[in-house]
Amino acid sequence: MQILEKAPAKINLSLDVLYKRADGFHEVEMVMTTVDLADRIELTLLQSGDIKVESESRFVPNDERNLAYRAAKLLKDRFQVKEGVKIFIEKNIPVAAGLAGGSSDAAAVLRGVNRMWNLGLSMDELADLGAEIGSDVSFCVHGGTALATGRGEKVKALPAPPPCWVVLSKPTIGVSTQTVYQRLDLKKAEHPDTEAMVHSLKKGDYRGICSHVGNTLEGVTLGLHEEVGQIKEQMKQAGADAVLMSGSGPTVFCLVEHDARAQRIYNSLKGFCTEVYMVRMLGYQETS
Ligand code: ATP
Repeated sequence: MQILEKAPAKINLSLDVLYKRADGFHEVEMVMTTVDLADRIELTLLQSGDIKVESESRFVPNDERNLAYRAAKLLKDRFQVKEGVKIFIEKNIPVAAGLAGGSSDAAAVLRGVNRMWNLGLSMDELADLGAEIGSDVSFCVHGGTALATGRGEKVKALPAPPPCWVVLSKPTIGVSTQTVYQRLDLKKAEHPDTEAMVHSLKKGDYRGICSHVGNTLEGVTLGLHEEVGQIKEQMKQAGADAVLMSGSGPTVFCLVEHDARAQRIYNSLKGFCTEVYMVRMLGYQETS
């Protein structure tokens, strides 16, 4: 028996860090949406009871460090499942890029093994279980567009943004989320207007969305890696409607309404950056 699941990347239309909590996590407010840049997850039933992970990507661990492995293990242990699963990950989302690739793989495995092992869990139940694996997994279980609060695990669905192009570019540097949070000075950092972003989405107001993109973590990563600022500048000069870093970076994305302009931005970045993608927003929940 084989099951295929699509695991799309997410971008943060806005990301605000409110304060550091007593448990060490940061309280956040994030507006996230999925884009059509996705890993492909192929699940094969294993009667032996083993959980195996395979991938052609050298950046992805193939043992219990893989979030996809942890997702299968969580359901297997919690519901005392005898069968196992082989998880093949076709990695298309850049790794450690601020696009929640690992979380999306884990979410896809939760959805897929729920079907494969006939567990009958609802999407909400899977999202709750996902929070035990990582803060972004709950959002990724549903996909679409949502406001995520708490440490990211409290997810409220929002309407999809109006259709547009998203051009993404990842400089060839690694960014540690932990380092970015450690260097964050909440008093000096910029805080996006989450309410205005949510309002713009509810109204389907593309211009409003573009003028309210913001990311509290961006200033920190910009200070560490000048490449991030260079890509932002290039996108702005080429006529993007909105430009922002996703998550803790280093991927920068821009929103563009017009096809020809999106293509121009893509081409101009391709010249000096190897990882560039031009994709559509998914926006709606297509994963249930
Ligand atoms: P986030 O924005 O949620 O921090 P990210 O996009 O920055 O996510 P990921 O691509 O999820 O980061 O990878 C972060 C780390 O997680 C990598 O260094 C990698 O070794 C590890 N990892 C574990 N499982 C996976 C997976 N299935 N795909 C990619 N990376 C994984």
